[in-house]
Amino acid sequence: EPELSGEFQLLLNWADDVRRLGVRANADNPADAAKAVEFGAEGIGLCRTEHMFMEQERVPVVRSMILSETASERDEALRQLLPMQQEDFEGIFKAMAGRPVTIRLLDPPLHEFLPDLEELLIETTKLEVTGENLELLQQKQRLLRKLRELHEFNPMLGHRGCRLGMTNPEIYDMQAEAVFRAAAALEQNGMNVEPEIMIPLVGHVNELRDMRRVVEEAAARVTDDTGVRFTYTIGTMIEVPRAALTADHIAAEADFFSFGTNDLTQTTFGYSRDDAEGKFLQRYVDNGTLDTNPFVTLDRDGVGRLVQEGVTLGRQAKPDLKTGICGEHGGEPASIAFCEEQGLDYVSCSPFRVPVARLAAAQAAIRAGKKASSAAVSG
Ligand code: PEP
Ligand code: MG
Repeated sequence: EPELSGEFQLLLNWADDVRRLGVRANADNPADAAKAVEFGAEGIGLCRTEHMFMEQERVPVVRSMILSETASERDEALRQLLPMQQEDFEGIFKAMAGRPVTIRLLDPPLHEFLPDLEELLIETTKLEVTGENLELLQQKQRLLRKLRELHEFNPMLGHRGCRLGMTNPEIYDMQAEAVFRAAAALEQNGMNVEPEIMIPLVGHVNELRDMRRVVEEAAARVTDDTGVRFTYTIGTMIEVPRAALTADHIAAEADFFSFGTNDLTQTTFGYSRDDAEGKFLQRYVDNGTLDTNPFVTLDRDGVGRLVQEGVTLGRQAKPDLKTGICGEHGGEPASIAFCEEQGLDYVSCSPFRVPVARLAAAQAAIRAGKKASSAAVSG
């Protein structure tokens, strides 16, 4: 049954006639993608691929990829993951029926796929040292060693995003190949597919340059292999201050920018996005130190200036650069108004916020239009 009433649907259609901003959704499985389309999303602005790696039956394969001690062990795990990823992407492309889909390559630190260190320690100490348990003990020991090796004091500032792709390009290569194999298979069946590969946490243009090469090589390989031609673009998240400040350099290697305002807020304020809200942030809002929670409403004075700088520099270097936002702010009306003012091309938010985003984008466009016409009258 339809979840939106007829009147609301009518209102949304009016909003669509008025708004300039595109509205996309963040989705990483076919069901969410279908929901997004139902709510009027024009594409996927962020498909976070890490969730796909957390699926129960894949965990052993992902672990063997991370724990592999030889290249052949690692390659075997990647060979097993490739068709699973291809299936993931085919499902999403089908649900989106030709609309653009931005697929972000793996972002989180690798230890997130391994068991918790403390739990593993407890488990291991409980095991009796007997011949029977020998193999199990050795296995646990190996895991412990790897966990220690992967341990980071500040994982959110650590070995994640493209830094992972730089040290383990084979993972990004496998993911890109899976995207292109999915695209080729569907194109062969007469379906239009628009994959946009997105590299996370870029802070230096050379990271994007290198990861771009990995993706392009995967595309060439799939074309050679299948004989199918498909089009694709490669872009980057702008989610650390240095990326915004050097956006002109970065644009040289990017077809699009998507502002990751969750991480950009974290790194601009230096607030841990996992801790700040539970500690001091509410107090800051309650006592007026801050007007609003910047993880909810985009901070115009700081984070917003970086977004503005990023858009301006990026477009100076590349006039047809596509720009969007995919942090939580992409579904929040005041932040959407800011995106309209900055002339972004689209916002992307969770599927359930798409209707609100469509309305907010229309309101923002009306307000911006009024401003432009009153400036024309008075100017
Ligand atoms: C962001 O940082 O704003 C973003 C969209 O990516 P994630 O939330 O997955 O870090
Ligand atoms: Mg991020």
